[in-house]
Amino acid sequence: MNCPSCHSTFYIKNGIVKSLQRFKCKSCGYNYTVEKKSSSIEACKKRIAIILYLEGMKVTTIAQKLDVSHVSVIKWIKKYGNNLVQLRAQINEYDNKLDNSSDSEQLSNLMNQ
Ligand SMILES: [Zn+2]
Repeated sequence: MNCPSCHSTFYIKNGIVKSLQRFKCKSCGYNYTVEKKSSSIEACKKRIAIILYLEGMKVTTIAQKLDVSHVSVIKWIKKYGNNLVQLRAQINEYDNKLDNSSDSEQLSNLMNQ
């Protein structure tokens, strides 16, 4: 891995930004990030897990699908915020409202005909 600025291979780890490893070039001081392969796959699985969870899939099913332990899935959901449970409830409520409103709309359309 070379510095994008001066192509030096001397670098030090300089923290993690948005789950990317940040490096600082020892030669010119340029900061750059490199996506770690393992963490990018994990980040991808995390996103999918959250989406599936929000769609109402069981944690154990998500874990099976993504080939991870359900403990990890629960950990990810917790990490992404306890609001997710609330969010899911809100989405369900919203879906119900949409269903109901389209029904009543169709009904009133039928009445007007
Ligand atoms: Zn450099």
